[in-house]
Amino acid sequence: MLITDVRAHHVRIPYDAGVASFKQGASAIAAVDIVLVEVTTDAGMTGWGDAWGYVCPRSTVSAIAEMIAPQARGQEVPDAAGIPVLMERIQRNLHLFGRYGITMFAISGLDIALWDLAARIQGVPLHRLLGAQKRARIPAYASLLKIGDAALIAAECETALRRGYPAIKLHETTVPAVHAARDAIGAGIPLMVDMNCPMDGPTAIAFARDCREAAPLFLEEPVWPPEDFATLAEVRAQGGLNVAAGENACTVHQFRQMLTAGALSHAQPSVIKVGGITEYLRVVDLADTMGVKLAPHSPYFGPGFLATLQLMSLRDDGTFAEVFYMNRAACLWRGRIDIDPEGCIAVPDGPGLGYEPDREVMERYRA
Ligand SMILES: [Mg+2]
Repeated sequence: MLITDVRAHHVRIPYDAGVASFKQGASAIAAVDIVLVEVTTDAGMTGWGDAWGYVCPRSTVSAIAEMIAPQARGQEVPDAAGIPVLMERIQRNLHLFGRYGITMFAISGLDIALWDLAARIQGVPLHRLLGAQKRARIPAYASLLKIGDAALIAAECETALRRGYPAIKLHETTVPAVHAARDAIGAGIPLMVDMNCPMDGPTAIAFARDCREAAPLFLEEPVWPPEDFATLAEVRAQGGLNVAAGENACTVHQFRQMLTAGALSHAQPSVIKVGGITEYLRVVDLADTMGVKLAPHSPYFGPGFLATLQLMSLRDDGTFAEVFYMNRAACLWRGRIDIDPEGCIAVPDGPGLGYEPDREVMERYRA
């Protein structure tokens, strides 16, 4: 079976996050941009992948058309053993365009689609192709966008708990915000704090110490610049809190640098950025070897989210799936990735990633 084409589809689904928002410059982001990667074959079978787009979806689409498709078109469809071989060859061919950022996002999209295809050809869900399923449902945490105001944060945390989420993550960088959340949710609910790389070392250490009583499960990306792993390790050692990072690391090699520096208690591979399922699995092996926990990054709603559920179902390690706390205008999966009353999401059991994207939704929201 040959790969006949690799096509990227840019889908833009508006959302409402209430009092919360993310901004780029002065304007708030008002839609989820998804870059789906469709791999077609001469046997009529299709695989679906997902490449990080966020605020550069058209650049990611171009990268797939210009860099990725020519690497894959006309190749034999690889099986599970062949995917890492093909992806290694593509990584080597494209390394001069960067081992981080859009090139790796685009590579991730192809990799996920090939794994989807390989499992579909076998007629099994991806988790069965990869190993033995340990969890059929994955607990989700509400990943709140940035709010700022302590009273509004407390109210949003309470609403998220009422909606069934068993854990919460903030995107906040002030001590009162963290304590407001903890006061609102009580002692028993896991609370995480995502900072998105704002602080120098001494400021981050002071922040961690001031947050200790709120007992966050971890601080995520507290340090600027993100590649300063030595400072991240210092914050972890001296701040007294767990430190998570890795959503912006690409390939197992960068994770090895981070873990060797002692920077992390929790590694956060993002399957649509790190290099796909192939690199994600390598990061999992590395983290296990080095005694570091996992906290996968998954605040997206395309095929990459299904891939994350499949991967998380292979481990009974108590980890939560990250779900952006927002109301979307539509779902590619007919609502089947929404949380159940206990705050869990069922792992799809169909072939490959488990579901096929809703073509009607794709067409209606095609950008
Ligand atoms: Mg994050």
